[in-house]
Amino acid sequence: MSTLALHGGAPVRSALLPYGRQMIDDTDVSAVVAALTSDFLTTGPAVERFERAFASFVGAKHAVAVSNGTAALHVAAAAAGVRAGDRVVTTPLTFVASANCARYQGATPVFADVHRDTLTIDPAQVDDACRAGARAIVTVDYAGLPSDLDDLLAICQARGAVLIEDAAHAVGATYRGRTVGSVAHLTTFSLHPVKQMTTGEGGVITTNDDAMATAMRRFRNHGITLTAAEREKRHAWAYDVEDLGYNYRLTDVQCALGLSQMAKLPGYLARRRDIAAAFDAALADLPTLERPARCADRDSSWHLYVVRLNLDRLTTGRAEIFAALRAENIGVNVHYVPVPWHSTFAGTPGAGRGHWPIAEAEYERLLTLPLWPGMSDADVADVVTAVRKVLGAFTK
Ligand SMILES: *Cc1c(COP(=O)(O)O)cnc(C)c1O
Repeated sequence: MSTLALHGGAPVRSALLPYGRQMIDDTDVSAVVAALTSDFLTTGPAVERFERAFASFVGAKHAVAVSNGTAALHVAAAAAGVRAGDRVVTTPLTFVASANCARYQGATPVFADVHRDTLTIDPAQVDDACRAGARAIVTVDYAGLPSDLDDLLAICQARGAVLIEDAAHAVGATYRGRTVGSVAHLTTFSLHPVKQMTTGEGGVITTNDDAMATAMRRFRNHGITLTAAEREKRHAWAYDVEDLGYNYRLTDVQCALGLSQMAKLPGYLARRRDIAAAFDAALADLPTLERPARCADRDSSWHLYVVRLNLDRLTTGRAEIFAALRAENIGVNVHYVPVPWHSTFAGTPGAGRGHWPIAEAEYERLLTLPLWPGMSDADVADVVTAVRKVLGAFTK
């Protein structure tokens, strides 16, 4: 076997393959240039066109475009009625923004552990956490696999809570025949460059609820009752500011990029599925790792391909495997350090180590392999070669 790059051998690749990356082509560039030279750089017609296209793609009545996925979560929390003193249940195994949206509204995030197999939040644990009251549940479609949405909706119904689905990973995923974005009360998306499609920075909230959609449009625009376009139509200058709001608007330049990206989204999603299937096949015989779970009633959008190391079959821990793969120029990553471990959560319930046995144990074994639609078959083969080389060298 060839020497590991970590030990001075030749790396599998000469340049780093990132774990995620955007796809931008000439039609995207033309769309952005056209928007830049149009009458509106912001709050113009491209925003509405993008919102209509996104709502139609997910099968929801409304889509509200905002400046990023974190803003989308904040807007959704406000629309769900999350206020100071409330409790919001979320998963420990996510990006920090899923929990912070509660804190932005003065509420307290409360964690509930995940399923061992899917790494999405466990409804039984959520129900326990809701017993002391919860205004909202923020569930995360980890790696692109939809959460147990029907079970979570049933809990919301019984407990009077609102279901916010953080689908930052899950543009284009499906749950029991429905597209993510049409199922939960509020679904939030991120349009960051590593996600399925991008506007540079950007976010969207989808809902079928008319009142929540109106409230979200105001909240992203300072809480102002009439938009500039509506005032112009009425030849009026006056408006009221009904509630505290923010400037979370997405520009027309970004929405033009979003529209151009949406035309290619089905192709991006198909390529992600194909790469995931190629990894599944090429790694099937390795006893040193476990491949991502699949569920018969839902399809992942494959934002991430996360394997779990079988540490009892390896002579080293995740840290050295990670370093060895990086040395081979494979841009592996780890999603995520458990949120309650971050020092900013000190003092909130369940913060620190030792409270979330499944999320914490699985965290020690997680490793994200590169996966994005621009990867060539040769890139995919490099990942497989490097994983086999490194795990082979550390097999007991
Ligand atoms: C990316 C991401 C976000 C935040 O999105 P931004 O657009 O970066 O603000 C929120 N939640 C999860 C799970 C994410 O992966």
